[in-house]
Amino acid sequence: MELISNLFLKELKLKTAGEVGLDALDDGATISIGDKTLVLTTDSHTVKPLFFPGGDIGRLAVAGTVNDLAVMGARPLAMSCAIVVEEGFPTEDLRKITQSIDATAREAGTPLITGDFKVMERGALDGAVITTTGVGLAETLVTDRGLKPGDKIIITGDIGAHGMTILAHREGIAVDVDLGSDVAPIWETVEAALKVGGVTAMKDPTRGGIAAALNEMASKARVGIVLMEADIPVSEATRSIGEMLGIDPFQITNEGKAIISADSKKCDELLAAIRKTKYGKHACIIGEVVKNHPGDVLLETVIGGRRLLESPIGDPAPRIC
Ligand code: MG
Repeated sequence: MELISNLFLKELKLKTAGEVGLDALDDGATISIGDKTLVLTTDSHTVKPLFFPGGDIGRLAVAGTVNDLAVMGARPLAMSCAIVVEEGFPTEDLRKITQSIDATAREAGTPLITGDFKVMERGALDGAVITTTGVGLAETLVTDRGLKPGDKIIITGDIGAHGMTILAHREGIAVDVDLGSDVAPIWETVEAALKVGGVTAMKDPTRGGIAAALNEMASKARVGIVLMEADIPVSEATRSIGEMLGIDPFQITNEGKAIISADSKKCDELLAAIRKTKYGKHACIIGEVVKNHPGDVLLETVIGGRRLLESPIGDPAPRIC
């Protein structure tokens, strides 16, 4: 994060093409064309291993981009994809990854219309890196900083499954049949919420989990957030792997979830609409936005105390997305 503000944001001078530019450090940025708002986003994927329970790097690359567009309120229109592999990379694996990219793109209704493929010498790269860029059209632009005191915080399903699955798989811990990555394109879920109205801010809780995403949202909006620990959905499998590895499910990557800040008057209706969608069945309200302690996320714990929920320091789980 420090490199981003001290190097990139300083050195790059031309960084705005619409309402939201590079400085906003949001999930994507906007391009204004007449009265239309396009959203552009890009992400490189370096997950290790390339294939994991519940998904692979191909599905991850497509879902990651589609979801970054979705949480800006943008319907995904099209994608580009650049694949870099090292010499000797198995053709069969490349085929499987490509088929997975295709299946996920079709599920998301987002065509892959341009791409690039490069090979690097053996040892220059650990396997494969995939970069996807997506463009979407926002009828209602949503940023990650629009939270207002009184809003309710909704999560679209149980948290921590992606990160915990990857870590468990890497450590050779037998992954429970119930545990697998949540990686999925969630535009349909987000669209259902947008149709109801009352969405004030959104973010997909990827790197650093809901802890990082909510802290970022709170500090950008200069509001506080209070979460009810008992209301935050964590599966038994995620919880037990987390305990085994000493990793907090609140601080680990999700790849098929959105955090939605919603006007309290609309939130029941929103929740009902989200729950009707494939990836929103277990959505719930996990907390609220408050005026007090701006920038801080407080957790009302199951045993009744309150503690600060902080963003993870450094990167406790590299190569996870
Ligand atoms: Mg994002």
